[in-house]
Amino acid sequence: MTFLTSLPFCAGVTTNNFVPMACLTILTVPDARLKVKALPVPLVDDSIRKLMDDMMETMYADDGAGLAATQVGINKRVIVVDLGEHTPDMGPLKFANPEIIWRSTEVKKNWEACLSVPGQSAQVERFTAIRLRYLDENNTAQEKDFDDWAAICLQHEIDHLDGILYIDHLSALKRNLLISKARKFRKSE
Ligand SMILES: [Zn+2]
Repeated sequence: MTFLTSLPFCAGVTTNNFVPMACLTILTVPDARLKVKALPVPLVDDSIRKLMDDMMETMYADDGAGLAATQVGINKRVIVVDLGEHTPDMGPLKFANPEIIWRSTEVKKNWEACLSVPGQSAQVERFTAIRLRYLDENNTAQEKDFDDWAAICLQHEIDHLDGILYIDHLSALKRNLLISKARKFRKSE
């Protein structure tokens, strides 16, 4: 997920000269791999932690606020999120096997954008608060409540793990228009 108000991130910079950036390639619509339902990871080991780190770098390099493994063609239930100034107390978070175990009754429409639908945005209805069960980067089971931007972003990213894009919540007409515009946008970049 991306924020419309965010400024472009300076891509290609790493803070550690000895570890090359491991930016992954982000799939864009209409790539069929974005429609695949991801599989749970049995545990968060070093290979999953490396995946989480690479996804985080990829997300920062592309000015994203959230990224799902599905978006980089990896069929595992892993997401990373950093909402930056929108939720300064939260910091970067990494999730394996995230599962929404409670949803608010209240819903709200918000503008969303996505690294896999470049250059586009639309309003989508989401629950205003959720409770999540997941494994953190230390393989520790967690349950946490999220609201506001974090809740929106997490619903968007968990949708990705089920092969659902935010544009799938729109009418077919609107969805096809955004896919067509995203393809043109990508070619013009
Ligand atoms: Zn997305």
